[in-house]
Amino acid sequence: MGAGRKLGRVRRLVVKVGTGLVTKAGAGIAPDRIEALAAEIAAVREGRRVVLVTSGAIATGVARLGLAARPRSIPEKQAAAAVGQSALMWQYEAAFSRHGIPVGQVLLTAEDVSARARYLNARNTLDALLRFGVLPIVNENDTVAVAEIKVGDNDNLSALVASLIDADLLVLLTDVDGLYTDDPTLNAGARRLETVEAVTDEIARLARDRTDGVSVGGMATKLQAAKKAAAAGVPMIIASGYLPGVLRRLLAGESVGTYFAPKAARLTARKRWIAFAVAPQGKLTVDAGALQALTQHGKSLLPSGILEVEGEFASGDVVALLAGATGREFARGVVNFDADEVRKIRGAKTTEIEGRLGYRSFDEVIHRDNFVLL
Ligand code: GLU
Repeated sequence: MGAGRKLGRVRRLVVKVGTGLVTKAGAGIAPDRIEALAAEIAAVREGRRVVLVTSGAIATGVARLGLAARPRSIPEKQAAAAVGQSALMWQYEAAFSRHGIPVGQVLLTAEDVSARARYLNARNTLDALLRFGVLPIVNENDTVAVAEIKVGDNDNLSALVASLIDADLLVLLTDVDGLYTDDPTLNAGARRLETVEAVTDEIARLARDRTDGVSVGGMATKLQAAKKAAAAGVPMIIASGYLPGVLRRLLAGESVGTYFAPKAARLTARKRWIAFAVAPQGKLTVDAGALQALTQHGKSLLPSGILEVEGEFASGDVVALLAGATGREFARGVVNFDADEVRKIRGAKTTEIEGRLGYRSFDEVIHRDNFVLL
């Protein structure tokens, strides 16, 4: 048994597979790998709802188009993704149909999980697919997504999806069998970490990334995903996709891969959206008094504690809160005012708000119900 692992009944499972796992270097899709993956998932699907997050569209497209290397220009990458994504789905469709599992393609961009309405829409669609007994296969919508609207890597995307569908477990299948204390290819004494209680700075330093020109992420993005998953209350496991029976074994509690413990308190769906799904539209720097009121006493943010306002946000947007003394982001929340209004009432006492704005409005800039500590 994996020491320190707490996997309750896993009813909702998100599995993410990396480019290295589903393609062969330079040769595009590896059909045998997709077949093996379909068999792995089919073996654990009984009584569970599973979402697959797949990479590999661009690498597949590059091979199909006969390009010598991954293109640099964005339109060429997007073209490669368009070609590769359909080839990838075709392969999944064939592989899963052999197990009687219908699949559905879901392509997301960061915007689909940032705007509250689109976030709920994405969640409802995934829920409907799962109710229909479909295996949703998710990738970033690389053909339309440019840097500004991209999540950027599928490790982070899979953590957002796990939070979106309220998963009980997120599994990242990759070509290494977990997080090691050192690079196991260079140091024979390197040890696999069985359980990580929290992604501390020390743990983050263990992420030594190879840039092999195939994968986007590496350990660094996997640890970012682990942080997001933990805060959303979802346990995460990094394991080798080459290990036969890997999903069955880790679901049975075997010590496979590295397990990342979730934080004790699970945030509500709305708070998870505030904390992770959204790229903040602005920043508010607060003074020591406000910092204490917010972090120690569960209070709302009032205008009087605000030192600086950055960005052009609108009321209802999510902003980041920074501590004045350190400049560190410590929370996020939904603002009741737009940026110009906050600039006018910054530093004001509650009784002065109406005078400064010329109309009556909220007392709080961010109400405590719309606020999440990070
Ligand atoms: N969405 C990219 C693709 O399918 C991969 C991103 C990643 O590997 O993290 O090619």
